[in-house]
Amino acid sequence: MTFASDSLNTATESPTPAIVMEWSVNGFDDVGDVLVLPLFKGVEKAPNNALSGLSRAQRATVNEALTGDAFTGKKGKRLSIWTPGCRIVLVGMGNSSASDKSCRDAGAKLMAALTKRDGTAVTVRFTTGWNSAKMTLFIEGMMLRDYKFDKYISKDDKNGEGNDGGADNQDKIWNVSVQASARHQESLNNSLASSAGITSGVHLARDLGNEPPNYLYPMEYADRVQAWAKGNGAVEVEVYDYEKLQKEGMGGLINVGKGSVRKPCMILFTINPKADSGERVPCIVGKGITFDTGGISLKPGAGMDEMKYDMHGAATVFGLMQALVATGWKGRVNAIACLAENMPSAEAYRPGDVIPTYSGKTIEVLNTDAEGRNVLADGLWKAGEFDPSYIIDLATLTGAVVVALGHEATGLWSNDGELSVRIAAAGDAEDEIAWPMPLLKAFEKEMTGSKIADVRNLGKGRWGGSCTAAAFLKQFVPERQDGDGKKSQIPWAHLDIAGTAWGASTNAMVAHGATGIHVRTLHRLITQSN
Ligand SMILES: [Zn+2]
Repeated sequence: MTFASDSLNTATESPTPAIVMEWSVNGFDDVGDVLVLPLFKGVEKAPNNALSGLSRAQRATVNEALTGDAFTGKKGKRLSIWTPGCRIVLVGMGNSSASDKSCRDAGAKLMAALTKRDGTAVTVRFTTGWNSAKMTLFIEGMMLRDYKFDKYISKDDKNGEGNDGGADNQDKIWNVSVQASARHQESLNNSLASSAGITSGVHLARDLGNEPPNYLYPMEYADRVQAWAKGNGAVEVEVYDYEKLQKEGMGGLINVGKGSVRKPCMILFTINPKADSGERVPCIVGKGITFDTGGISLKPGAGMDEMKYDMHGAATVFGLMQALVATGWKGRVNAIACLAENMPSAEAYRPGDVIPTYSGKTIEVLNTDAEGRNVLADGLWKAGEFDPSYIIDLATLTGAVVVALGHEATGLWSNDGELSVRIAAAGDAEDEIAWPMPLLKAFEKEMTGSKIADVRNLGKGRWGGSCTAAAFLKQFVPERQDGDGKKSQIPWAHLDIAGTAWGASTNAMVAHGATGIHVRTLHRLITQSN
């Protein structure tokens, strides 16, 4: 294994995940700069403990707000009360049957509304109506929303008169005291530690997605993975550079990436390589086009900058690995990231080309902008070599899925009904919706109908574009023989995240930019269901 040093490289950055707030679980003791009281509908007086440590005058002010009409606990309403020494924020939670989503969203929206100018010591007190599961979701929402990607903004600008001014506290991290009665404290401590670990993975995925394409290109991703894995016994990483791809015959990756001076690569991750020996474990595959111009089938200019997000499948893969390690997951998990930059040049692949792939099947290239499926063809075939329990790929694959589902849901295709149900359930629990879509025979027929190759990389027309893309991928999911001698495909699911990886304006966890979509879904799927 060699590591080509790229002359365009800037110094490799440590992939340390973005800072997550400091937090601790306590009884109802000291109050920080800000006191947050999330309250359910129907409170007319502050619950026991909610106001402990406050002066008589401060208590009276809060109770006045609660008895009057100023605050009724209505969902989504917040009331800020300024008292000497402490800002008190009442957060309306609606009925005490509040859903998981509304608890997580309430925490996220609160975090978005807080400003460091008021101080960074925040006390959140949970009293009547709260159980530890709901408390965890509220604080998790705060953790997830506590994210910024401002590394390319000069310091002077950051501390200026912007919307989150307050030069003094700008570089401080939030320090959150989570206060609850004694019987909740131990379980809260454990569940919040897990939330913080998962959040570090989500934030890493968001960082990778948000990185400009001149900084984050295929071998830079590889370098960051290696820096992350170094000294971590739970992680094994292998990098297939351009030379190795050629040795292996990975024509999908090679052809998509060869038009760029920044050559493609494949990254193989294994978490806990020695665990679960002899058992089948999951393999997750991510599309990582660090920039997609469309290649010779050049995209129109408008919005092309967004094609830096075309590597979000690979971003989610790396973020998921971080989340699994940070939460101490002991099982073995494999993952593959397929990285390339799709550029037009004299060396680029063309429409009309027939390209070989790792599987041995050939692809007729009808449009060089349908490149994600070409790199995944190699990734899916490689995944089969791990003899996995299942394969899940993530890809910002088609505009067609955004037409179908908007920015509200990921498209989910699978050759295995049970796997599909489990992924959808995990997505629902995390409010990262994965919506089942059909893998019809007719779509497969369309994609295998090339006159001069095994598979064509474009459907015959524009209709059902996300479904024909999924049908293409299915051609590269390996079969295996099971006990009874019957051959069948490895259980596989495809997540088209083109609508959910960025631009998700209704996602309360995200202000803008990359979303880190499905790090949480897959963490849940792998760690909580079998
Ligand atoms: Zn493309």
